[in-house]
Amino acid sequence: MLVETRTGILTADRLDELVGALRRRGHVVGPVLREGAISYGEIESASDLPRGWTDRQEAGTYRLERDPRELYFGFTLGAQSWKPYLFPPRLRLWSARRSDDGSFAALDEAEEAPGRVFLGVRPCDLAAIAVQDRVFLHGPHQDPDYGRRRERAFLVAVTCGQAAATCFCTSMGGGPRAERGFDLALTELSDERGHRFLVESGSERGAEVLAELSAPESAAADREGAERVAAAAAAQITRRMPAGIAGVLRGGYAHPRWDEVASRCLACTNCTLVCPTCFCMAVEDTTDLEGTAHRDRRWDSCFTAGHSYIHGGSVHASTASRYRQWMTHKLSTWFDQFGTSGCVGCGRCITWCPAAIDITAEAAAIADTPGGATC
Ligand code: SF4
Ligand code: SF4
Repeated sequence: MLVETRTGILTADRLDELVGALRRRGHVVGPVLREGAISYGEIESASDLPRGWTDRQEAGTYRLERDPRELYFGFTLGAQSWKPYLFPPRLRLWSARRSDDGSFAALDEAEEAPGRVFLGVRPCDLAAIAVQDRVFLHGPHQDPDYGRRRERAFLVAVTCGQAAATCFCTSMGGGPRAERGFDLALTELSDERGHRFLVESGSERGAEVLAELSAPESAAADREGAERVAAAAAAQITRRMPAGIAGVLRGGYAHPRWDEVASRCLACTNCTLVCPTCFCMAVEDTTDLEGTAHRDRRWDSCFTAGHSYIHGGSVHASTASRYRQWMTHKLSTWFDQFGTSGCVGCGRCITWCPAAIDITAEAAAIADTPGGATC
């Protein structure tokens, strides 16, 4: 449904009013400082946001630094995405209790999905949520738990004012400014006109918040300022995914690069855990001594030997085959399954890889092989 976009201007000293309006719509979760990184946690007021902090990222490197600009959203991304809120790391599917007569009764433990406001969704993470929507809601098998959480999520996007050295969203069809899929989108502006936010609505729910705040209409100078913020971030992006990589990987099954990258890869699973789109899962059954059985779903990773274990052995027994499976799925066969890339270019897998392995460099190494990838 086409929704008319409305824009307004909120001075930075009114950010608490926005947080208050959002809190009337659900638990607000947003960026907070935690254990030396920017993570997500409950936001009760604007003072919970990591104002005055910025991040420096490179392959295998993440550092927080003080930032004299004193912006509320003057950083790029932390390790955590919004994935844990929509696709929890552990979810109870059902439980059953044995009765004295030996029969079993299923226990109704379905949790009500919490209504949450995600404050500060970067455009790459918005794109990742759209990818997970296709996987969990629009494929042949729908996930009702994801559907309930997603329906109750209110998304507040934030334009990126700076890119990390690990970002490559612009070569994955994205960019530093959110175009769609949000309820509200903020762009933080700090210039001669003052410290303020351009607020755009992307849904009826978002327009209601904007109306509640009685935010004055934005001026052309504000909208141009927002364009400049996004353009400056885009200009900082130097990493790229090679064009046509999906087709290259289809013929790259036996490429020697898989063994080379496996000699560095620790199969630690970090890349899949921080990835906002990876959805490998395992199902575990447990019983307690009182006769109650539980079936839980938990995150898994295609980098573990156990994930592909069937009938006495792992399909992906070597690290080389696991890396190949992960990258080929993300960048190529995901299109066959879901009609989209499985990668949005957020760069988390590069930053949080302890071996500093870079998916764009690995893709380029395969794409650049003279004569194409061997088969
Ligand atoms: S590519 Fe890096 S993060 Fe991923 S499993 Fe290998 S060592 Fe771990
Ligand atoms: S594969 Fe890496 S860059 Fe792509 S979405 Fe996942 S974590 Fe981000």
